Amino acid sequence: MSSTTASLGNCPECGAEIAAASKLIEYERTDGTTGVYAECDQCRTVVTPK
Ligand SMILES: [Zn+2]
Repeated sequence: MSSTTASLGNCPECGAEIAAASKLIEYERTDGTTGVYAECDQCRTVVTPK
């Protein structure tokens, strides 16, 4: 499935919205779902948006 989303979710550290453009990598979790690492624009931390 390919869908374009404007945001990946929110930063668990500061709560800022993470833009899709901030995505660094995708990885497959052990349960088969796709996880994402992105850099938060607000606190400059690499996080998994939620
Ligand atoms: Zn943040």
